[in-house]
Amino acid sequence: MNFDLVIIGSGPGGYVAAIRAAQYGLKVAVVEKEQKLGGTCLHVGCVPTKALLHYAELYEEALRSEKWGLSYQNLHLDYTQLIRRKSAIVGKHAKGVEYLFKKHKIETIRGRGTLLGKGQVEVSAAEVSPAEVSSTGRGRTLSAPNIILATGSSALMLPGLTADRDRILTNVEILDLTEIPKSLVVIGGGAVGVEFASVFRSFGAQVTIVEMLPRLVPSEDEDVSAELARAFRKRGIEVHLETKVGRVSPSAGGLEISLTDSGQAARKLSAGKLLVAVGRKPATGHIGLENTQVKTDRGFIEVDPWMETAEKGVYAIGDIVAGAPQLAHVASAEGLVAVGRIAGKDPEPVNYLRSPSATYCDPQIASVGLTETAAREKGHDIKTGQFPFAANSKASILGRPGGFVKVVAGARWGEILGVHIIGPSATELIAEAVTAITAEATVESMMSTIHAHPTLSEAVQEAFNNTWDLSINA
Ligand code: FAD
Repeated sequence: MNFDLVIIGSGPGGYVAAIRAAQYGLKVAVVEKEQKLGGTCLHVGCVPTKALLHYAELYEEALRSEKWGLSYQNLHLDYTQLIRRKSAIVGKHAKGVEYLFKKHKIETIRGRGTLLGKGQVEVSAAEVSPAEVSSTGRGRTLSAPNIILATGSSALMLPGLTADRDRILTNVEILDLTEIPKSLVVIGGGAVGVEFASVFRSFGAQVTIVEMLPRLVPSEDEDVSAELARAFRKRGIEVHLETKVGRVSPSAGGLEISLTDSGQAARKLSAGKLLVAVGRKPATGHIGLENTQVKTDRGFIEVDPWMETAEKGVYAIGDIVAGAPQLAHVASAEGLVAVGRIAGKDPEPVNYLRSPSATYCDPQIASVGLTETAAREKGHDIKTGQFPFAANSKASILGRPGGFVKVVAGARWGEILGVHIIGPSATELIAEAVTAITAEATVESMMSTIHAHPTLSEAVQEAFNNTWDLSINA
């Protein structure tokens, strides 16, 4: 069966690449091993977690607003119904991807795809209909001059632990819980860990985070990490930094977890459930890379700026790419570059320094560009500006005065090197900073950009003002 392009994987990398390729007039097939299209992001990642985070925020908001004079009689949390609603949203969008594939005449082939070598993908026999199994007993073979690998990632486990759908969980099993655990220990203080910690704390669980590194969200600016730890502790989340997890053993109430901190002091925690959120491993183990020239680094695939691997005509995008952030919008952006290249459109490579990252815990975090430390390490002579939401009237109206906006800029010309936000709607506010960096705006041009009043976005403008020590309200 011949195509112009075969894509393995239908996550935000694969499905976006497929649609753009079809728009460019290419004949496209997408091989997907799961029954539903959409990948990790739609089914067990971005979308279901953000649904839960939103309900958690609403619930806390309702509780908090009692002190402003709004009281909700019999405020009740029906977790089963929330889970049903979350699943309905996921289901709706999975159907949406299917509809888009039909609309663009993209062929969906269900089964496990394996590279046979240059230009050939085999779809495993177990997952294709008997009529499609060739006489050699192998599965259906697809041929195309271009192949995009978009197979994504799965949760890393700690040695000796296995997710058991009961007490030891990853992002997959925790989304299937039918009730709120009384206590939850989260191993890992990165984006996935802090988001789940935030959700279950809002819903009343006793939550503890254990992180090996000295700070939460270690890829964010250090000031942001410190503010998050402060805010989480205020919310009653126990945070153990520079702490390693040792033995995990079953106990009457769930699990007993041994910890050792940086001073070698040992202690034990008890928890009903344990979430392991220590990173993601690329799904590149069984996709036939050994039949190609593709080069890898600890399982991640090495690519050139147009996402092409060392095997000509084989591209890799998304969570499997070496040295790139594992984010849905990054996967999609990489897919567009790969397809642009395949279709001869001369696309610009992805500029990772212009790509935002967003963490939807409470308080929210979002950033783009260099942290203060990274900017200094790169030898930039910098100025920073910071503005607290406590001095922003809209944040007061919302009852969310915590957090700040921080700008990192070149000291001489005011070029914007990074923007870091922790606080209300940070994940929406960051879009302005991304646009500013992409448009190569300066601190001055952002200072003279008029923002509506009263809005949270005024805090962004004020952080730019503060970079030149000219903020008005703080
Ligand atoms: P995936 O989405 O993992 O899709 C890969 C697809 O390939 C899957 O459908 C899989 O079944 C299929 N596949 C794999 N191997 C084969 C094979 N051999 N044959 C056929 N099919 C195959 N990112 C954000 O930007 N924002 C967020 O808010 C966010 N939240 C997250 C929350 C959680 C809990 C997690 C775990 C991740 C989150 N992410 C978020 C990260 C985001 O989900 C990933 O970066 C994104 O899904 C990567 O897209 P992808 O296309 O590379 O792979």
